[in-house]
Amino acid sequence: MTPFFSLCVYCGSRPGVEPAFAATAAQVGRWLGEHGGQLVYGGGNNGLMGVMATAALEAGARVVGVIPHALVEKEWAKLDCTELHVVENMHERKRMMAERADAFLALPGGIGTFEEFFEVWTWRQLGYHDKPIGLLNEAGYYDTLLAFLWSSVSSGFMSEWQMELIRVAGDAPSLLQDLRQASSSAARATNLSQI
Ligand code: AMP
Repeated sequence: MTPFFSLCVYCGSRPGVEPAFAATAAQVGRWLGEHGGQLVYGGGNNGLMGVMATAALEAGARVVGVIPHALVEKEWAKLDCTELHVVENMHERKRMMAERADAFLALPGGIGTFEEFFEVWTWRQLGYHDKPIGLLNEAGYYDTLLAFLWSSVSSGFMSEWQMELIRVAGDAPSLLQDLRQASSSAARATNLSQI
């Protein structure tokens, strides 16, 4: 059975200091289960990643984890994923995650989350895919990043249309709903094999 909404989520491999971040990660996982969705993520069992995937499985979502073999121990690969793909390297991981998703969402996280979010954003502006991208600005976590990005627009290094490629919200359920709706109307043109 093809799930009607497959969401690739990038988030921290650490929990962060605010318990609210883990609560929201669990809420995202549960939402996917309650809406018959599928979670695609990095396959780890630590931090927000583990909390989200556990909640998704408990709520009945399919969970697709994709992890490079070098990180299986470091990130505690989540062995009870519906599908766990142990791949050769980080590049293969990111491409498979992108191919298996209808939309992307970044939650609070660190350097890995930032890198993955920026990568799918740049792929979108280059036309490698046409899938919606969300940024969950939980408790203003990304306020300073967003302010910097807008300052880059003012400085002439970015365009407003590039900013408009991302959907930013502070509230998980409305952003999830928005991404699901946008993904069903997206043309879904993908050239991800070219990355
Ligand atoms: P972090 O947000 O730093 O806690 O990392 C979240 C996830 O991003 C982890 O599963 C990392 O393996 C992954 N990740 C992806 N690309 C990178 C990268 N270039 N550097 C570090 N972590 C990365």
